[in-house]
Amino acid sequence: MLSLLRAAALCLWLPAAAASVPPAPVEVDDGLKSIDLASRLEVLEDPSGKLDFDAATASPDFQPVPEKGPNFGFSHSAWWVRLTLANREAHDRELVLRQGYPLIDYVDLWSPQQDGSWKHTATGDLRNFDTREFSHRDFLFSLQLPASEQRTYYLRFASSGPIDIALTLYEPTTLLGSISEEQLAYGAYFGGFLVLVLYNFFMFLVVRDRAFFYYLLYAISYGLYFSVFNGLSFQFLWPQQPVWGNMSLLVLLSLSLIFGMQFTRKFLDTRLNSSRQDRFAVILQALAVVALLLSFFLPYSILILPLALLTVVVTATIMSMGITCLIRGYRPARYFMIAWGLLLLGVLVYMLKTFGVLPHSMLTQNGFQVGSLSEMVLLSLALASRVNEMQRQSRTDALTKLFNRRFFDERVAFEFERAQRVHSPLALLVADIDHFKEFNDRHGHARGDEVLKAVAKQLLDGVRSQDVVCRYGGEEFALILPGTSEGQAMHIAEQLREGVQASRPQGDRRITISVGVAGTDNAGVANASDLFHAADKALYQAKAQGRNCVIRAAG
Ligand code: GH3
Ligand code: MG
Ligand code: MG
Repeated sequence: MLSLLRAAALCLWLPAAAASVPPAPVEVDDGLKSIDLASRLEVLEDPSGKLDFDAATASPDFQPVPEKGPNFGFSHSAWWVRLTLANREAHDRELVLRQGYPLIDYVDLWSPQQDGSWKHTATGDLRNFDTREFSHRDFLFSLQLPASEQRTYYLRFASSGPIDIALTLYEPTTLLGSISEEQLAYGAYFGGFLVLVLYNFFMFLVVRDRAFFYYLLYAISYGLYFSVFNGLSFQFLWPQQPVWGNMSLLVLLSLSLIFGMQFTRKFLDTRLNSSRQDRFAVILQALAVVALLLSFFLPYSILILPLALLTVVVTATIMSMGITCLIRGYRPARYFMIAWGLLLLGVLVYMLKTFGVLPHSMLTQNGFQVGSLSEMVLLSLALASRVNEMQRQSRTDALTKLFNRRFFDERVAFEFERAQRVHSPLALLVADIDHFKEFNDRHGHARGDEVLKAVAKQLLDGVRSQDVVCRYGGEEFALILPGTSEGQAMHIAEQLREGVQASRPQGDRRITISVGVAGTDNAGVANASDLFHAADKALYQAKAQGRNCVIRAAG
């Protein structure tokens, strides 16, 4: 997406009008800390790319830099740069020239020497990393400026990517300070990625949800994409593989799209929740795979625009899938949407800065990176929320939203233990809808489901918040009442029964329930299983006695 912005910047660049006066030499005195050279350069476009040093330096066609600055976007030309420095002090100066955009294929510098010869330094990101004077992600050149002398330097830039000439002159200690701060910030940024990757790797091992795995792949490819962009991966990961280094940007962008989409599909379960969008997502993934394969053969300049377009479509699709799932009430989609919202906010801030609406600051300049790390943190949170959701689902009955049988079994044992420990009573109600088969037969299953939901709600509303209401199975419910004696539970059960009977008739009759009640204060109850069987037996008795009644377990 950064490349997309650069392409946009390219459209904004208009060639300078008629030649104007060449800029004055850059005055170097002891007060100089650093100076942006953009307006102090002269440039010469060599459309053939074939001019040699002698021909270029002899050319009368050097021009001042256009108003928009020396970012020439995608260009097949070679760009020559002339820079004149004048030392105003009576002592020698050592300075460092920095090219702040590291993705330039060929960067050459010619510095005049004391003996009148030229020292040629040839580097660039299509040349091995060890062609650099300084081991740094950006291109740094040391310049020796003798006392009271004026010197002219030449640089040549050629690249299949954007020609973004971002030259700054530094006094060495100032540069050291800047670099330390930048490295700290990058360390924090990529450290954040690393921690997220490790954390989610272990989560994947424990939880075994493949969404974690796709998140990992997404975070790795996305983090690496940013590190290529800053020149860091060329410095630290593959300094001897400049050709791969150049391909890696597109490869990693394609991989980010593939895995980002795969993660989203898995995370939101779109195959089940939104199958049409899911099929569209698969098509986009297929396109990203094609881009991935092509990036090994086609140059950056041809592929970047289609890929930027694909990135926009993928992002829009991810957002719309998130919105769909949010509307359908899938809770983890909330974090998911905030995550993507933050990323897009970062992009927006960066764009507004690029177009001059927002001021240049640490935050706006790095809005993109801040946004992307925030996105990753929140997606990790979203995964945790997804685990919660899966856990919740595993103990929830889908129809009534009550706890299910599995949860009941665990909980009743747990509550029994606790009741014993704190010497407090515990009661259990087992309730069953009367003649429900008949109701189903007469009114249909759908109507029956409505009744089940209504009864479930009545039971839930009729007890305290610490009581646990479960659907035991079919039309049978189990209610765990901590701190309640059998006698008190009889009272509650009677209220529930009356409540159900008093509710609006369904079809041609009133719905009623029969309830069996047992408590730990009952002599026959020695464990959780006894408690359930006592209540269940009482329920059978209630059925046998004509239904719509509450029966207490025999002691
Ligand atoms: P009894 O008064 O003796 O309990 O009679 P009953 O018909 O309620 O009991 P029985 O166990 O014979 O039948 C239970 C019926 O509950 C069978 C089935 O049609 C219905 N049932 C079970 N689960 C569901 C469900 O999820 N939805 C619907 N609509 N009906 C269900
Ligand atoms: Mg029944
Ligand atoms: Mg039943």
